[in-house]
Amino acid sequence: MADKKTEAELLKEKLCYEPKNAYKEMSDDEIKKSDAFCKDYEDFMNAAKTEREVTCFMKTEAEKNGFTPFDKSKKYKAGDKVYRINRDKCIILCVFGQNDISEGVKLAAAHIDSPRLDLKPNPLYESEEIALFKTHYYGGIKKYQWTAIPLSLHGVVVKGDGTSVTVNIGEDPADPQFVVTDLLPHLAREQEKRTLGEGVKGEELNLLIGSRPFKDDKGSELVKLNILKILNEKYGIVEKDFQSAELEIVPAFRATDIGFDRSMIGAYGHDDKVCAYPAARAAFDVKNPKYTVVTVLTDKEEIGSEGNTGLNSSYLKYFIYDIAEMFGANGRDVLSKSECLSADVNAAYDPTFPDVMERKNASFINKGVVITKYTGARGKSSTSDASAEFMGKIRNLLDSNNVIWQTGELGKVDAGGGGTVAMYIAALNVDVVDLGVPVLSMHAPFEVVAKTDVYMAYRAIYEFYNMK
Ligand code: MN
Ligand code: MN
Repeated sequence: MADKKTEAELLKEKLCYEPKNAYKEMSDDEIKKSDAFCKDYEDFMNAAKTEREVTCFMKTEAEKNGFTPFDKSKKYKAGDKVYRINRDKCIILCVFGQNDISEGVKLAAAHIDSPRLDLKPNPLYESEEIALFKTHYYGGIKKYQWTAIPLSLHGVVVKGDGTSVTVNIGEDPADPQFVVTDLLPHLAREQEKRTLGEGVKGEELNLLIGSRPFKDDKGSELVKLNILKILNEKYGIVEKDFQSAELEIVPAFRATDIGFDRSMIGAYGHDDKVCAYPAARAAFDVKNPKYTVVTVLTDKEEIGSEGNTGLNSSYLKYFIYDIAEMFGANGRDVLSKSECLSADVNAAYDPTFPDVMERKNASFINKGVVITKYTGARGKSSTSDASAEFMGKIRNLLDSNNVIWQTGELGKVDAGGGGTVAMYIAALNVDVVDLGVPVLSMHAPFEVVAKTDVYMAYRAIYEFYNMK
């Protein structure tokens, strides 16, 4: 017979807060659903690694789910589903709701760009009969992590005649891969005196791409020439075409289960595809929502949301204005009544590096989707600090639908900091809060998340979209 709870225990249960492990809260059936969802997520991660590839993947999925390209001149009704693509690097998914559009929309925004190495405009060179690409890193990386791992090349090249070719090398098992070399420890005495941040410098992130010279007795740089010959035969490109290209180097790893218990997923680019995928799935699954539901998968978050494919541009605002006008409403009024989940990851508490976290306000893997009231740095600079009222609303929504969630800060006060798209959504006069998945080794070439948290992110966004 179980011991009767003491008065203190009962009072503690009633008054105190302690986030719980999802495995203790979820039914076996729910855990099964979570595992199945995460299997789909892993397949997605193996199929789409860059913003362009995610946009293309989601366009196909959207069409399978009855979405059509948004046409301003058409009249849509509740239940209709549309999408709009911005420059092949962002996609907006929209399901029209039953309510008058002027009551606002329910938005979820996630980003589909991840830290990586980009090729410079003139990347190709030869040194000592070895061919290499010069790179310029994109987003916040620890540069030493990008050496001595298998890498693949993704992107697009616009040729002199205006036509373009899509590049994807290193993902198919039949493809070659690439690597940034590192110094052997035997000769690294001087390198090891460098700080961790300088351990491998930006100009040392050179990609190894070839070593076989073009067969000819005369001429110099024959290895480089041979690479150009191969690229010309395969893609019809010449050296100058690199200047009008966006070629991205990403880890060639596949997404895979982590742990004997398979409770986690390791992959490149969880930040922020681990929120983008659940948001898109919620958009595909929502049926006849009351409010119009808008999902935006955006580019450029990792470099500050600047540029016309980042959320600091007006492309989202213009879309909302367009749907408002279609229903005879004012875009400004629609935005002012709208609410948004800025779906982005947070740093999970890592028992190996506890010093940067303040335990009571850190997020933990398997404790559910994390709501981050504010991010920023140096006293909440550069963030949207969600209001008590909006936090209260989201809290009630999640609790009443048994979504497991926790709160989190991005590390200890003044330990560092970071931001999300939340502040750019807030700038549109929309109520917004960050909600997403806790990540271990965030921004590393291989990041880790827990399966239950990915599923809870999906459930949270789905319930938000179904809000009455
Ligand atoms: Mn992010
Ligand atoms: Mn990030």
